[in-house]
Amino acid sequence: LTERLQNAISKLKRKGKISESDVKEVMREIRLALLEADVNFKVVKDFVKEVKNRAVGAEVLESLTPAQQIVKIVNEELIKVMGESAVSLNKSKKIPTVIMMVGLQGAGKTTTAGKLAYKLKKEENARPLMIAADVYRPAAVDQLKTVGKSIDVPVFELGTDVDPVEIVRQGMKLAEEQKNDYVIIDTAGRLQIDEKLMNELARIKELTHPDEILLTVDSMTGQNAVEVAQGFNDTLDVTGVVLTKLDGDTRGGAALSIRAVTGKPIKFIGQGEKMTALDVFYPDRMASRILGMGDMLTLIEKAQQDFDQKKAEELADKMRENTFDFNDFIEQMEQVQNMGPIEDIMKMIPGMANNPALKNVKVDPKDIEHTKAIVYSMTPDEREDPDMLNPSRRRRIAAGSGRPIQEVNRMIKQFKQMRDMMQKMTNGNFGGMENMFGG
Ligand code: GDP
Ligand code: MG
Repeated sequence: LTERLQNAISKLKRKGKISESDVKEVMREIRLALLEADVNFKVVKDFVKEVKNRAVGAEVLESLTPAQQIVKIVNEELIKVMGESAVSLNKSKKIPTVIMMVGLQGAGKTTTAGKLAYKLKKEENARPLMIAADVYRPAAVDQLKTVGKSIDVPVFELGTDVDPVEIVRQGMKLAEEQKNDYVIIDTAGRLQIDEKLMNELARIKELTHPDEILLTVDSMTGQNAVEVAQGFNDTLDVTGVVLTKLDGDTRGGAALSIRAVTGKPIKFIGQGEKMTALDVFYPDRMASRILGMGDMLTLIEKAQQDFDQKKAEELADKMRENTFDFNDFIEQMEQVQNMGPIEDIMKMIPGMANNPALKNVKVDPKDIEHTKAIVYSMTPDEREDPDMLNPSRRRRIAAGSGRPIQEVNRMIKQFKQMRDMMQKMTNGNFGGMENMFGG
């Protein structure tokens, strides 16, 4: 999906204006790309139609930055289909809040029950109780007990010879006596949706009136995920979805389809087997992920917010005239710092997100602080005229900032390289960047 969309969009990047047939061509690519990612056919159809409606016409054709606009439209529509914003857990006014996990076997119910209990414990200081209501697989009860032990959350169980509805009834009673604020019911799954299971789940629902029925769906199951979601939703009227295994070979397709087809929000995503690997679902982040452009749109927005246009122009002039000095340098650094961790910003740049060379890049905020300390130890004259930094001044700066002389030398050298590079760039061109960022 990612590659196809990127190809389609990069075709646009090379042109200043988009014709109607361009839009058509790109939409065909996007449609194919989404279908290939197992997005439900009907969802794809609606999606493409919506984007086409918005893209063909003035909005894009008259724009100065067509690429930026079409990326925005595709992105906005993806977000819309996936539900606009994060949706939090339903909570009962009276304790306990009851959460029932449902889904096919192997989807991740038991694991997610544990992750959720751990999250609530950590974030709200909650005292959850988990109930082991999967009596069909001998190991299921033990699995939940192991999970419970690892996060120090109690598990109510009556083995595997008791009717699950009875287990839940007794578990609920215990939770009320103990005043647990959450009850998380781990239920059985099957390889396919079957009537007996649905009956049992419906009885548990009737007994406990859950605040949440969380349908757990394996994101790797693709097109199938939609049928599963529909099946469970028809019988149980679920309240939300957890999409698991998004740490693997990511298929954004399921996320896109499920919300559209069931109308139920995706509340959490599982991104690993560890108990900490449960995250709130953010439609905008998922959209960027599906688009495979890192968080480029976030970058565009952040750059717009944090970067004063006038200052940018002044800066460009300075770069051109090669009068960029340490005062500008420090200002730049602070602006970049305001945008967030450097490694995050680098990942937002298209083509960088999946760059293996960046995988383990960590920019230590301390390094930035050290650099700032060095600049602050310079006199105003020195900051304005870096060329006057002779060895004795450098030694003084090293002593003043408490940084080794080698570091001071290295930093000044890097600064000069950067200044030269900037001058070349402003006199030449920014290549594709110009198109993307509206230059
Ligand atoms: P259940 O049958 O629905 O209860 O599914 P389980 O909780 O037993 O999970 C099935 C398998 O998927 C286990 O091996 C889990 O460790 C694994 N699993 C669950 N959630 C995730 C996830 O978000 N990422 C990964 N990589 N594995 C997961
Ligand atoms: Mg299980």
